[in-house]
Amino acid sequence: MRAQPTASHFIDGEYVEDTTGAPIECVYAATGEIVARLHEATPALIDRALAAAARAQADWAALRPVERGRVLHKASQIIRARNQELSELETLDTGKPIQETLVADATSGADALEYFAGFAATVTGQTVPVGGGDFVYTIREALGVCVGIGAWNYPTQIACWKAAPALAFGNSMVFKPSEVTPLGALKLAEILMEAGAPAGLFNVVQGRGSVGAALVTDPRVAKVSLTGSVPTGRKVYAAAAQGIRHVTMELGGKSPLVIFDDASLEDAIGAAMLGNFYSTGQICSNGTRVFVQKGLKQRFLSRLKERTETILIGEPLDPETQMGPMVTADQLDKVMGYVEAGVAEGATLITGGKRLDRAGNYMQPTVFADVTDQMTIAREEIFGPVMVVLDFDTEDEVIARANDTEFGLAAGVFTSDLARALRVVAQLQAGTCWINTYNLTPVEAPFGGSKLSGVGRENGHAALEHYTQVKSVYVATGPVDAPY
Ligand code: NDP
Repeated sequence: MRAQPTASHFIDGEYVEDTTGAPIECVYAATGEIVARLHEATPALIDRALAAAARAQADWAALRPVERGRVLHKASQIIRARNQELSELETLDTGKPIQETLVADATSGADALEYFAGFAATVTGQTVPVGGGDFVYTIREALGVCVGIGAWNYPTQIACWKAAPALAFGNSMVFKPSEVTPLGALKLAEILMEAGAPAGLFNVVQGRGSVGAALVTDPRVAKVSLTGSVPTGRKVYAAAAQGIRHVTMELGGKSPLVIFDDASLEDAIGAAMLGNFYSTGQICSNGTRVFVQKGLKQRFLSRLKERTETILIGEPLDPETQMGPMVTADQLDKVMGYVEAGVAEGATLITGGKRLDRAGNYMQPTVFADVTDQMTIAREEIFGPVMVVLDFDTEDEVIARANDTEFGLAAGVFTSDLARALRVVAQLQAGTCWINTYNLTPVEAPFGGSKLSGVGRENGHAALEHYTQVKSVYVATGPVDAPY
């Protein structure tokens, strides 16, 4: 059974509807069927959500950290118990195959809740001796009301990656999902309440960019965490700067995956395929510039073509399906525009490149070879199942070319020479790197971008820095030495 959310918003502990807000249709990407009809939050609802979050936050922050952790842990258990129905809903929301959503979406959200549940009670301050028996102690305090704004590719995971650390460390949150995928975050809100979270602690309001913009500029908000594109990141960062708010920006990428000719061929191809075709290529950290050393090029391309052509494309709710449609018709058009640009600029189409002749936003997984660094498909984020293969001769050359991008989200290296892998990774400009694998993002490890790909880190111990602030308290033990 796919338990649908029962209204558009979740505010102050309950589902809330206000049909005066502009309509939002949640469309199943595989069929065009409307799976839910929702409404944008009106200014009054945005105000209600922020007021509820502000009210809930102080009491929540005052709880014992283990008590906060207990609620998050309980929520992670509920998610795991309901993984099947949450995954089906995620598939309807995004069009991603159930084969993926069962293992990569709600479950990774549960991981985050579980990790930060345990982390909550470990947070301590420092005692700093400052001479003469005086000392300073530090307290890690919650920031207050945090705003989370999500992209459409991992709606449940993104909501959990933001909510889990925020709530663990004593903050409250108002979350705005992408209008394209509004459902998953509502289920998280419902589950957090069921797990014992106080009303108002985690609120969800729907809407397009204007709703996000209203949240970001509200004086009650202490922090904004956005997952989205670089252009949106620029706007949200600038708006948050007006109020000197804390920000985390998880933005786009055009990440290099460097494959040396001593790499395990099948592993390198498997990783390149996962790093370009999983979630129909709609993953920010994808290794979309695949640099293959010339000695391996022909073997790489011929096996890649063979393996790519076996991918089972189909109805996302069918457990056999390995690749589903693009999230929206607009996104499909955008990606097909890049395919046309690749052909027009002289890249060699190895396989794919066509829409599928069926209902839904389907296209073939696509591989281009003989791509040069200046081609549009090598420079811009495509966000679809389009792999761009470039060839190279030397290590120094490939490092320079891999770094020649305004993005810096991720990078990967495949080689059997570990010393070389470490040397190369040390020089790659990226927030997350992988050696002999790609796109694994366990919650224990910090994740985030450098350069235009963002600021701040999600997950791991690093998240503490981004959802708390440090208060220093100077404790004097002697008389005050005043000269007057
Ligand atoms: P967008 O940048 O279009 O939107 C992101 C979110 O911001 C959406 O909820 C959007 O609302 C909202 N938004 C848009 N304008 C504003 C505004 N002015 N103020 C506040 N909020 C606003 O990204 P997509 O949803 O298209 O997602 C794809 C992008 O996300 C890709 O570039 C991808 O690389 C990146 N991404 C980054 C990740 C990371 O961790 N680094 C992970 C996943 C994706 P609405 O959609 O309703 O308009």
